[in-house]
Amino acid sequence: MRVLAHGGVGSPREMDENVKKTVEKGIVDKSNALEVVIGVVKELEDDPVFNAGTGSRIRLDGSVQMDAAVMFSGEIGAVSAIEKVRNPVKIAKEIYDSPFVMLTGVDSTNFARDLGYKEHDPVTEKRMEEFKEMKEKLEETGGSERLKRIREFYDQVDGGDTVGCVAEVDGEYAAAVSTGGTSYCMRGRVGDSPLVGCGFYAGKRGAVVTTGKGEEIIKRMSAKRCYDLLLEHDIKDACEMVVEEYPEEISIGVIAVSDDGIASADNRDMSQYKI
Ligand code: ASP
Repeated sequence: MRVLAHGGVGSPREMDENVKKTVEKGIVDKSNALEVVIGVVKELEDDPVFNAGTGSRIRLDGSVQMDAAVMFSGEIGAVSAIEKVRNPVKIAKEIYDSPFVMLTGVDSTNFARDLGYKEHDPVTEKRMEEFKEMKEKLEETGGSERLKRIREFYDQVDGGDTVGCVAEVDGEYAAAVSTGGTSYCMRGRVGDSPLVGCGFYAGKRGAVVTTGKGEEIIKRMSAKRCYDLLLEHDIKDACEMVVEEYPEEISIGVIAVSDDGIASADNRDMSQYKI
């Protein structure tokens, strides 16, 4: 078994310890790569220091909307803008088991409730403080002026403690990702994380998860790009080539596993742990 998890680009390396604990706990009694990545991401979602599940960022309107996805064996389950559930990655797995690939918004929340997932408030004190600061900065503005200010702040967004995990077990590969989005994020905004080929990809030869500013990752479809590169290059080189495709001011992190090994690359600190 090989596993690599991250706590988001921009998260300090002191948080490696948190990631380590979640990996050690998340892999217990798991028998395949899909179970491993879900187990680890569930633990990361439950650790409030990360921006996923409990501890997710609050959006501009005061709501918390979360995105998550899993991929294994050519199948995908993804959820976007889900609210008030404890573990979005578990809902992504329910969708994986359904005939569908992605559910979104209130319908994904209703889907979770129908399956018996209880209401959970993911807001922490730290996120509430951040939200108040964000609101103060934008309070005086409205309409297009507000949008202009949001754009100015959004241009400075530098990573967001999103979580992700890639794993190989018995030659099979899986990827899972979960996020509360970035700061200065509008309600309804969907980033890279639940989009196949952007925030995650897993195939017969490996698995990849990305972290960073979702809009930039979507434009480059970096998870699939990394997967394609690692078929031709050393896995570390493939990850670095993806990072090099971003300008210095855009934060980006990549983790990958393949038959060639396990590797990560980033242009900021990125907490992580591998076994
Ligand atoms: N990629 C995530 C998003 O844009 C944020 C992150 O990775 O920190 O929603």
